[in-house]
Amino acid sequence: MTLPLLEDLPEPSGKKVLLRADFNVPITDGRIDDDLRITAAMPTIEWLQEKGASVTACSHLGRPKGEPDEKYTMDPVRERLAELAPDVELMENLRFDPGEEANDPAFVDRLVDGFDLYVNDAFGASHRAHASVVGPPTRLPSAAGRLLAREVEVLGGLLEKPRHPFVGILGGSKVSSKMGVIEALIDKVDHLAIGGAMCFTFMMAQGYSVGDSLVEPDWVDACKGFLEGPSKDKFMIPSDIVAMGPDEEVKVVHGDIPDGWKGMDIGPESTLAFISPLEKAGTILWNGPMGMFEDPRFQEGTVDVAEAVADSHGFTVVGGGDSAAALAKFGLDTRIDHVSTGGGASLELLEKGDLPGLAALREASNAPN
Ligand code: ADP
Ligand code: MG
Repeated sequence: MTLPLLEDLPEPSGKKVLLRADFNVPITDGRIDDDLRITAAMPTIEWLQEKGASVTACSHLGRPKGEPDEKYTMDPVRERLAELAPDVELMENLRFDPGEEANDPAFVDRLVDGFDLYVNDAFGASHRAHASVVGPPTRLPSAAGRLLAREVEVLGGLLEKPRHPFVGILGGSKVSSKMGVIEALIDKVDHLAIGGAMCFTFMMAQGYSVGDSLVEPDWVDACKGFLEGPSKDKFMIPSDIVAMGPDEEVKVVHGDIPDGWKGMDIGPESTLAFISPLEKAGTILWNGPMGMFEDPRFQEGTVDVAEAVADSHGFTVVGGGDSAAALAKFGLDTRIDHVSTGGGASLELLEKGDLPGLAALREASNAPN
């Protein structure tokens, strides 16, 4: 079965549509920091409304513990949504009910009660087999919204038919969370640059000392496996690092990082090396900042890589919540072909080629053969 799209829904006019959106936006003191996830759902909402359907949206927000918690109310989202789409109703946080994460059939029944159609546009939640993601397609004619369909098309297409040279750039905090992606990418890419805190586990595998940098010693052997494996020449590991030492002194270190010093960003030489294949790249996939970019002292590697990705004439895809936040912070987000709205979901889709939420939609009664 193939993924049912909005066009595969039975006539939506006059129907009540349950829309699972991903409105899990960052909120500080009751204010939304970044409304990308709300604006991203608008094409689907507009399509449904133009067809004469009435839309009720639902989402989770944060990590409440299966009971109502004022801290995680959808109220700030509801306010913003009312400005963008006044006629859309929004349910309260799905995770206020333990049935959501437990995928309880009784909760699914309550959720779909009174609805005629279901649309999943919550790409960022589709790697979770939660009630609102996998339940409704077993009960109602269902479809992937525009955002979800686009994510699947881009991220799926990346591994199927990328234009070469295909350059991957990975960073972020934990190498363990990105091992599966490295595995999935390494056969497809021409170069894979590794920055962020995850580079220190690779540097340790190369035999360097990494001082007080973030490392995951349990993953050193796996990194060594990659560096000695058939694709070893594809890997680009930093040759220099911006490190912070005692009394917050900052310097560029080549090779071994001394005890008491912590790697915070890739160094200028590494940045140049990472950027050099980007100019001629046909496809670029970037996931994870090159350093602790939240601190301006350690943002250089991330800024320079982000600018080079933005300047590229190739097809550019950026995934990961923090990478997307970095792009927005540097005002470069509009110069990227596709900024994925899903962190864990984009990694899992690249890694496994499918998600529980997609599989559920393909099983819906109206899914095309
Ligand atoms: P994404 O959300 O884009 O997938 P991750 O969540 O994997 O990225 O990692 C992002 C975090 O990694 C950022 O908060 C950043 O500060 C942190 N980080 C990157 N490099 C380092 C480093 N050298 N030391 C400590 N933290 C780092
Ligand atoms: Mg993150």
